[in-house]
Amino acid sequence: MEQEDTLQPKKVIVWFRHDMRLHDNEPLIEAIKRGDEVYPIYVFNSKRLLGKTKHGFRKTAAFRTQFKIEAAADLRKQFENIGCDLIIRIGDPAEEVFKLAKQLNSSWVFCNMERTQEEVDVQEELEKKLWSIGQELHFFRGKLLYHTQDLPFPVAHVPDMFTQFRKELEKYIQIREPFAAPTELPKWTSEVETGELPSLADFDHYEIPPCDFNTFTIKGGETEGLVRLNGYLFETHAAKTYFDTRNGSLDELDSTKFSAYLSQGCLSPKQIYYTLKEYEKQHGDNKSTYWIFFELLWRDFFHFIAKKYENKIFHSEGLFDSEIEYLEQDDRLINAWIEGTTGFPFVDAHMRELAATGFMSNRGRQNVASFFIHDLKQPWIVGAEYMESLLIDYNPSSNYGNWQYIAGVGTDPRPDRYFHLAKQAKRYDPSGEYVKNWLPELSALPIEKVHEPWKLTNQESEEVDFILGRDYPQPIIQTRWMKRARSSSQG
Ligand SMILES: Cc1cc2nc3c(=O)[nH]c(=O)nc-3n(C[C@H](O)[C@H](O)[C@H](O)COP(=O)(O)OP(=O)(O)OC[C@H]3O[C@@H](n4cnc5c(N)ncnc54)[C@H](O)[C@@H]3O)c2cc1C
Repeated sequence: MEQEDTLQPKKVIVWFRHDMRLHDNEPLIEAIKRGDEVYPIYVFNSKRLLGKTKHGFRKTAAFRTQFKIEAAADLRKQFENIGCDLIIRIGDPAEEVFKLAKQLNSSWVFCNMERTQEEVDVQEELEKKLWSIGQELHFFRGKLLYHTQDLPFPVAHVPDMFTQFRKELEKYIQIREPFAAPTELPKWTSEVETGELPSLADFDHYEIPPCDFNTFTIKGGETEGLVRLNGYLFETHAAKTYFDTRNGSLDELDSTKFSAYLSQGCLSPKQIYYTLKEYEKQHGDNKSTYWIFFELLWRDFFHFIAKKYENKIFHSEGLFDSEIEYLEQDDRLINAWIEGTTGFPFVDAHMRELAATGFMSNRGRQNVASFFIHDLKQPWIVGAEYMESLLIDYNPSSNYGNWQYIAGVGTDPRPDRYFHLAKQAKRYDPSGEYVKNWLPELSALPIEKVHEPWKLTNQESEEVDFILGRDYPQPIIQTRWMKRARSSSQG
């Protein structure tokens, strides 16, 4: 038996999840070290890709599905370049990886660990299945800048305030260096059906129609992610002005657009960090280059909060079981928000962008979420589920963490984290260019009125042949600042 074992090549399966890359991939590096043959597999999770959220949205709309397909295609190409292939399956990941392990009689299955419920359920199911055939699932960590075991506090004591979290980490903890991508893999001795890449139609989606208004596109895959990283830093030097541009919504270079690559793991945050350090070494550091790291810390923060509070990140009452007012869901208001027909241009433009592209800037997300919660007074969880569906960069910790934060039931809880839409719009879209791009029906409006078309005088309306209610909706509600303005003008 001993002898037979040594004659058999040791086969290691690497299960790719939200780490669709060759660089900084510890399970892959360990598999190469410990095994004789490496079998990488990616499973399109049909439950997630075809299922619905509690409130009836598709769990994964076409944009993220398309991104995943592109990322898998790229990963396959990269494996081919180093003498291997990517095994692709569609179905239940636990079942598909188990079947492969059984077929290969593999020595180990390696993967990165996930921490949110649906992902944990899958890894636990696989683990149990593997135990039934005497195999084990080995976990690694690769999603964040910081490793849990490097934290200066136990996860159960992660500070609930971002500032405290940031100060304790950035000063005292060294970020580990990313692993280099492997350059060669041994040939397989087992015959394995590698499987076809799926198409959007396999997940009941139509092809994404071209959009006349978007000013950039986000294409999936590690190769694209690395091009974006290099481009944002070394080619355009946009990183040098990030602090000043990051609140813009229109220009591709306003912010990094790393989020979808990070969420699917096409880019590793450590790779971004060390590339940023290299950039600073060559071209100097400033507040902007620091601020990219600062934002990545927010990402880590929400992931550690999710680890600390587990399923509470999905609860309406939030992390601290806050007393909340249970609100009646009003589908008329929710549909207007989704369709971008609320009559508030800064909200509508962002919501139409999301529906057409799967992306929205951080400033946009903050405003539409605040409007949904504090002005429309709708249950935040419904808005969060809609974004879960649509966002190309969705991840549970960042999405639900940010929604809870704005709803005042998450980290740093405050009852009224309110964004004054008119002020925000004028500050972050002063020329109205963004709003006019997504709402061409407002393109003739004077700049001073484009964010508040209800303020047009009769004469102004006539001059631009624009009628509120005919060409663009009347505001669907009176916000508190509109009411205040009315009562002070009456008083
Ligand atoms: C209501 C709401 C929902 C959100 N849902 C998600 C989500 O599902 N997935 C997601 O990745 N981000 C989410 N964010 C955070 C943020 O809006 C996006 O990460 C950012 O807009 C992506 O664009 P960017 O890559 O150009 O960001 P940049 O401004 O260039 O920031 C660089 C990176 O830092 C991280 N980051 C920045 N801000 C945040 C933040 N507030 N929270 C967590 N990470 C951050 C992201 O990984 C981002 O790619 C949400 C924010 C809000 C207000």
